[in-house]
Amino acid sequence: MKIRSRLSFQFTLIVASILILFSGSVYFFSATYRKQEFYKRLTDKALTTGRLFIEVDEVDSVLLKIIDKNTVNILPQEEVFIFDGHDKEVYRSRDIVREKPTPEELHEIRQKGEYRFKQGNFEKEGIVYHARDKAYLVVASATDVYGLSKLRNLRFILVIGFIFSAVLTLLGGWIFSGQALRPISQVIKQVESITGFNLNKRVNEGNRRDEIAQLAITFNQMLNRIQEAFETQKSFVSNASHELRTPLTVITGQIEVTLLNKRDAAEYERILGSILEDIRDLNKLTNGLLEIAQADLDIARMQVRNFRVDELLWQARNDVMKRNPDYNVQISVKNLPENEGALSVAGIEPLFKTALTNLMDNGCKFSPDKQVKVIFDSTGDEVLLQFEDRGIGINEADKQRIFEPFYRAENARRIPGQGLGLPLTRRIVSMHHGTFHISSEIEKGTVISLSFPANHQG
Ligand code: ADP
Repeated sequence: MKIRSRLSFQFTLIVASILILFSGSVYFFSATYRKQEFYKRLTDKALTTGRLFIEVDEVDSVLLKIIDKNTVNILPQEEVFIFDGHDKEVYRSRDIVREKPTPEELHEIRQKGEYRFKQGNFEKEGIVYHARDKAYLVVASATDVYGLSKLRNLRFILVIGFIFSAVLTLLGGWIFSGQALRPISQVIKQVESITGFNLNKRVNEGNRRDEIAQLAITFNQMLNRIQEAFETQKSFVSNASHELRTPLTVITGQIEVTLLNKRDAAEYERILGSILEDIRDLNKLTNGLLEIAQADLDIARMQVRNFRVDELLWQARNDVMKRNPDYNVQISVKNLPENEGALSVAGIEPLFKTALTNLMDNGCKFSPDKQVKVIFDSTGDEVLLQFEDRGIGINEADKQRIFEPFYRAENARRIPGQGLGLPLTRRIVSMHHGTFHISSEIEKGTVISLSFPANHQG
């Protein structure tokens, strides 16, 4: 069921329950009041008739009947009986009796002093009247034609009022919920119109204060992120194709020029060596691209497990120094808690190692002394790593840009590289819920600090 229908029905249900409760109470109290009032009138009638018949000597049953018949406030279908101390009838107000009180009823009246009973619409009030040392019984009965008709009328008004109000509430609820939900419908319509081709479109943020505006704002923020990722992806693909095409063009050119003339063996050897160099660069580039693509696949495919960062650091150092014998990676450990959990991180070990080797490589590569110092620290809750070099440094503007794929700072261009290591490293760090911070000074050196939440469960 749509929210609009649900809201209207729930609203109607609440109002209808309140109305039923209200109408029920009104009807109940009116009926009780009518009954009490009518019985009081019957009691008055019984008392008056009793007093006239028993205590006023001048009034006998013939006269009393005449008086009874001619009183202004005679009740509809009124009947009054008087019984003496032996339950013998001594007076009746009408000759045609609808229903005479039964001996059981008379007994009940004597027992209780006063007794009320009902037969259909016919209501009876019986009292004991003490006079002249005798206990008379006076029973007055009548039908409350006006009271019951008023009550019926009230019931009719309440039922019609209830139906009318329920329908009105349903209608009102439907209109109001429609109005309240209209902004959501508008947001849905606007969102539906956004596709991959118009990602720059945004949802109307309305007054920027209410919940729906918050939803629109959150949605727009998500669109910003998607658009950013989309554009990064697009520029990555075009940069990658450009980077791949350049060495291929160089290689093709070299081969074409070589084939123009016959050359001696030494010349061919020199040219082949140069082509091999270019192919190796190309290979490195493709590997870098593959690693970036692989990182995403790995995170989905490989199992996350716990590994010790200090041990991985030594393995990465070995790899780097084996590949580049002139590099020097120094590891210093500040804190090494006994608890293994404080040294461990949960994640994908090979990827984490790639990040460490990249940072070690960069530290050595961009420093004239080919040295990098790695400081390992553990606070118990966090594993901290610092890569310090005394190299060429990175200026402020470049600090933001070096994470873009293929971006290389001006001062680094004379040193070989593809500009793919740092983007991949930062991605791996964020996959492991880590933080990445760079502080650097041109021609003085660079410090890259990483911190990861330690995984104690392992
Ligand atoms: P590459 O090392 O292949 O150039 P990276 O993605 O690893 O690519 O680095 C991107 C850029 O960041 C480098 O070209 C360089 O300008 C800068 N950079 C990275 N590490 C350092 C460092 N330790 N010292 C100075 N510059 C650095």
